[in-house]
Amino acid sequence: MTAKERLRKKIFAGKRISPGEAESLFTWDILELGEAADLRRRLLHPANTVGFILDRIINFTNICEAACDFCAFHARAALKPYVLSRPEIIAKIEELASKGGTQVMLQGGLHPGYRLADYTGMVREIKSRFPGIRLHSFSPSELAHIAAKSSLTLDRVVTELQDAGLDSVPGAADLLVDRIRSKVSPRKIGTAMWVEVMRSLHRHGMRSSATMTYGLGETAGERIEHLAVVRGVQDETGIFRAFIPWSFSPKHTRLESTVPATGLDYLKIVAVSRIFLDNIRYIQAGWLTEGLKLAQLALAMGANDMGGVLMEEKVVRATGAGAKAGMAEFIDLIKNAGKTPVLRDSDYKILDRRPARRLK
Ligand code: SF4
Repeated sequence: MTAKERLRKKIFAGKRISPGEAESLFTWDILELGEAADLRRRLLHPANTVGFILDRIINFTNICEAACDFCAFHARAALKPYVLSRPEIIAKIEELASKGGTQVMLQGGLHPGYRLADYTGMVREIKSRFPGIRLHSFSPSELAHIAAKSSLTLDRVVTELQDAGLDSVPGAADLLVDRIRSKVSPRKIGTAMWVEVMRSLHRHGMRSSATMTYGLGETAGERIEHLAVVRGVQDETGIFRAFIPWSFSPKHTRLESTVPATGLDYLKIVAVSRIFLDNIRYIQAGWLTEGLKLAQLALAMGANDMGGVLMEEKVVRATGAGAKAGMAEFIDLIKNAGKTPVLRDSDYKILDRRPARRLK
């Protein structure tokens, strides 16, 4: 039996594969890889449902002292500096709540003037007005930034934000490869601190998600290095509800001359993630960066969630990328992929098995 046949057998038996084996999957034919990834998805989710959530991303400021090369969102990149006022933030959440939305992602730049009280004040006011809204907000970089600016430990920052009402924190990992991070985001936290934030959140019983931004000049081995960090943290903590890969969109960034990753790259990353990340239940199709049609294909290659019907998002849209979709498009797209669309909450619990009736 060849090494490839042995690996195929291992995957179909639902066994864990090594980083070296995962890297070899990038050389497989796309249909063969997709079949293996879809089988692993079916072992975990035989029901064939694909979830989505009604949420809103509120990018409350783009003033950021990190000024990463791959970011088109921060002030001085493509956009003028801005800070949303508290009433503006509240009005956006009111609109979301009136449409049945259940989750808000507050995300900002690393504002040099913000301290812990600015964040806890925002969280407390939102939670007091909208107790039913889940705040899946900020990022590991923002938490580390708050700790440094406020001269507090990470644990204290997490405690205070949790007391104020923060429910969970998106993983916002970029690429967990320090060779790349030191080039494209030298003022942002490194891999070790990202892991420390996850450990701190875990100590407080909070959940997170893991993401991956690829196409930043990394090798295939470094893509697996990222996935290995995520799998290791999940083995240790079980903190991740989902994994969300997306490609780097170079337009309007300082890395504008970078050739964007291809659709085939994306589908391979989704499939390899599904197989390698055997301890994460939900793999999201990144429709915002990859477009709806490619996201639909990802549902046949291991992905089983569509993420949010976002009412607002500025970070990706600042690059000029950023598909737009409403609930009706999501439902059609999932059905046309041969799956059953379900509306879910932040914990991936199904809220509605017949979301189409909400369109009437
Ligand atoms: S990616 Fe985040 S930390 Fe980096 S410049 Fe953009 S907003 Fe700031």
